[in-house]
Amino acid sequence: MANVTSTWTEPSNTPLTLLLLGKGTDPASERGVDCPGDLPAPSDPDLVARATAAKAALGSRVFVLGHHYQRDEVIQFADVTGDSFKLAQQAAARPEAEFIVFCGVHFMAESADILTTPAQKVILPDLAAGCSMADMAVLGQVETAWEHFEDLGITDQIVPVTYMNSSADIKGFVGRNKGVVCTSSNAKRALDWSFEQGSKVFFLPDQHLGRNTAVLEMGFDLDDCVLYDPHKPKGGLTDEQLRNAKMILWRGHCSVHGRFTIDSVREVRERVPGVNVLVHPECRHDVVRAADYVGSTEYIIRALDAAPSGSAWAVGTELNLVRRLALAHPDKQVMFLDRTVCYCSTMNRIDLPHLVWALEELVAGRVPNVITVDEKTAHEARVALDQMLALP
Ligand code: SF4
Repeated sequence: MANVTSTWTEPSNTPLTLLLLGKGTDPASERGVDCPGDLPAPSDPDLVARATAAKAALGSRVFVLGHHYQRDEVIQFADVTGDSFKLAQQAAARPEAEFIVFCGVHFMAESADILTTPAQKVILPDLAAGCSMADMAVLGQVETAWEHFEDLGITDQIVPVTYMNSSADIKGFVGRNKGVVCTSSNAKRALDWSFEQGSKVFFLPDQHLGRNTAVLEMGFDLDDCVLYDPHKPKGGLTDEQLRNAKMILWRGHCSVHGRFTIDSVREVRERVPGVNVLVHPECRHDVVRAADYVGSTEYIIRALDAAPSGSAWAVGTELNLVRRLALAHPDKQVMFLDRTVCYCSTMNRIDLPHLVWALEELVAGRVPNVITVDEKTAHEARVALDQMLALP
């Protein structure tokens, strides 16, 4: 038999390439940028001891935030856990902490930087931890869409609303166009306020949260919603469609929640009689319609806390959280809505080696991976965030 040798060559980056862990740069995107640093090996048996020692050495100078979707190995070192907005608020409530180590993704660290004092440094342990949903709305695309709406003469009717899960420059765009940021907990209140200011909403970047809130909570028809595809000329919509629409939804979605299907719901109902299906509003419209309960991450946690012993729950959200909930409620049957594994791959880029590295750098007097939002963008984004905080 002939001796065959082959050499694998890493393909060069294209606009769609998923960057390898910590390799490659794409500063115009949240797909990830270089992660400098000499990371400890994941197999290092001293990682827990090293993180514990570094955190103790830093004391109150450091505050570690852990998003609910983070791995257990990271969550164990979080001073507080929560969803993206709760974590940004917690960061803002700790002005004495010099360093905010944000175990989450890039847009969350940006929000924390916007809400904390200039003296505080927000650190993302792996700069390659972006969010695919946030990446689906790039400022240039959004400005092109807005110019199109201006040409149609409809911008004075439109209120832009962006989900917290968007980059700082999208929040800035919304702030300078008199709009508002929303979370999955207050999306209805944000839309109620927006429809008092105008007759249309331009909803970024998660089409599902926008559609689910408008149709299921506010009584709009599906036909009131149109989908603006930034990759098609004029968003793939006619002038008439845009003029008639009440909700102009940006074509973005969460790569995790968007994976649940109506078949997942049917299958679990057949397999587990009496099961309660509980999903996040980033799931597709048909999935949310077929579920028994829908709500934010914090809602999901509260629902399981309040559930009676012996009840069965199929949960449609990120797997790290579902696993932790299952462990926290051994008296209840808590299962993942879909049988296939569904971690958020970018969230999972923050692992113990990256956390150890970031903390040890701080102990050594170096400040790694600082996330900074420029002053103008931060000011405009803050206008949209403050509008959210002022929602009735
Ligand atoms: S779970 Fe979805 S929205 Fe959240 S960080 Fe991952 S891709 Fe983004």
